[in-house]
Amino acid sequence: MIEQYGGGLREGSVLKGFQPGGPLSGICGPDQSLTLTLDPYRALGLFLGGGGIVFFDQTACIVDMCRYFLAFCEDESCARCTTCHGGTQRAVEVIRRIQAGGGRDTDLELFAGLSSTLRWSNCFHGQFAMTTIKTSLNAFRAEYIEHIEQKYCRAGVCSGLIDYEIGNQSDANLPEAEEICPTRAISHEGSQYAIDDTLCIRCGACKEVSPGGIAVRDRFRKPVETGIFRVTV
Ligand code: SF4
Ligand code: SF4
Repeated sequence: MIEQYGGGLREGSVLKGFQPGGPLSGICGPDQSLTLTLDPYRALGLFLGGGGIVFFDQTACIVDMCRYFLAFCEDESCARCTTCHGGTQRAVEVIRRIQAGGGRDTDLELFAGLSSTLRWSNCFHGQFAMTTIKTSLNAFRAEYIEHIEQKYCRAGVCSGLIDYEIGNQSDANLPEAEEICPTRAISHEGSQYAIDDTLCIRCGACKEVSPGGIAVRDRFRKPVETGIFRVTV
């Protein structure tokens, strides 16, 4: 589909899904090939927005993307009706708790309850604020379950579910990572670098400047399908 719209993925990227424009539009899986007309999207409970289509790969976390769109809906709620104002606040609280490692087995029911309540909001903004959650649960339900039950973020994004560690002591960018760390969590003795987990706030700045030197590990050390703990360096 991505070629159909004249785009291209980075080398090593796999198309994970796409968002057809706008924070209320929803999220599709990679297997949905849709034309740029309204009806196919409506049939899936999605909207075709007026802006761009956002394609994303395996480095994007569905839960984190939905947190971003829900936080936008919360920020933009004008507070005229409590349904939207309080409802979007509760939705953001739940998704942030899941990202922090506090997922509960009732959370998907909470999302369903918020979806059915928010549709009685006063205007489109509140009525469709939960579209990203509803549509992404259709396409990516397993990823939500992983976050909630296994405390596992397959994209290595959700801060409560990951640790940052030194993955390659010889990476030339480690001095810059130490320098940029806002909490002085990274230190070195000679050529050996270390991260003090008690100081790390998981901002990800070190990984950005030293992607080859900093590793992301699963905080709860759940084995993946291969039986080997995931290490992203
Ligand atoms: S639904 Fe519309 S009117 Fe009600 S709080 Fe949200 S933005 Fe305001
Ligand atoms: S994630 Fe942020 S706080 Fe943690 S070690 Fe890296 S730069 Fe420092």
